[in-house]
Amino acid sequence: MFITERHRPSELLHMEAMFSRSKLDDKNHNQLENLRRGYEGECIYDNIFNEVGHDNSYIYRDVYLNIEDSTTQYDSLIVTEEGVVVNEIKNFSGTYTVSDDSWAKGNFELPDDPFAQLRRAIGKMRRLSLSSDLQFKVSGKLIFPNEECTLIIADELLKQNIIIRSNLRRYLARFKNNFSISSGFAREICEVITEHIVVNPYFKSAVDFDDVRHGIYCSECGGFEVDSERFHFRCSSCGSYETKETHFVRAISDYKYLFGKLPMTTNRMMEFTNYKFSKRSVQRLLAKYCDREGIYKSTSYKFKYYDFEDAMSKQPRNIRYKDRID
Ligand SMILES: [Zn+2]
Repeated sequence: MFITERHRPSELLHMEAMFSRSKLDDKNHNQLENLRRGYEGECIYDNIFNEVGHDNSYIYRDVYLNIEDSTTQYDSLIVTEEGVVVNEIKNFSGTYTVSDDSWAKGNFELPDDPFAQLRRAIGKMRRLSLSSDLQFKVSGKLIFPNEECTLIIADELLKQNIIIRSNLRRYLARFKNNFSISSGFAREICEVITEHIVVNPYFKSAVDFDDVRHGIYCSECGGFEVDSERFHFRCSSCGSYETKETHFVRAISDYKYLFGKLPMTTNRMMEFTNYKFSKRSVQRLLAKYCDREGIYKSTSYKFKYYDFEDAMSKQPRNIRYKDRID
């Protein structure tokens, strides 16, 4: 059973909003591509896990745990009656030569050693086990979900820590076939893990309000020129329609991931959407999608949802973003 949802990471949402509203340099562009690739790999893993079924284990996805005053991110934690299995997901593509302490793609040596990363993540989880009364077992694997990934590894021992795509289905099915959660021990482990979940403390990226382009943009082609119709904006470049509400929710989501702690107010959202919405509409939509904070003159808003996709997935069909007029 999936215990937590998987969302696009905050860093990815920040970079995607930057990509839509500014010109990224090569370095940022590479970072965006890496973040996208990482998230895609995690989605492949989730899909395969869904296909094989996960009734006999509890799975935490993309969680940050504070253990002994430091925070560790986990792509996936599988909790069974035996303990916790850490899965670090690496969406690598291409051919890598792997030895004990180095990973190389051709002549390029990777700056981070995935084995070291896995060891740290397992070590932290062991500390959690020791500090709880449960003393559960902890192990882990590196997961390579990409079909286009080839790993050249001479050391047989190292291979045991790795699951490649062709073995992934069988590996994940084992949790369903070999375990049950009837004794309640897994549940107790989950209580310990859940107590230690914190929000991502590493995400601090923010840009100035005027450093990005204001306005609304087409989700198909990225163009900022749109024609206003009654309930929709029509893109002047590619002709696609999206509801006005959808555009506004995307702007709220961009705002959340672009400007850090800058309070979201009615006036600022009017400016951010380049006055494409009336004050009344802005107030109505902020009230619908956000929680109010502060009183009267200092009222600001906080997005109720994780991101745009999350907000859209929870709305009734008639305002969904891909709806067309005709
Ligand atoms: Zn367009």
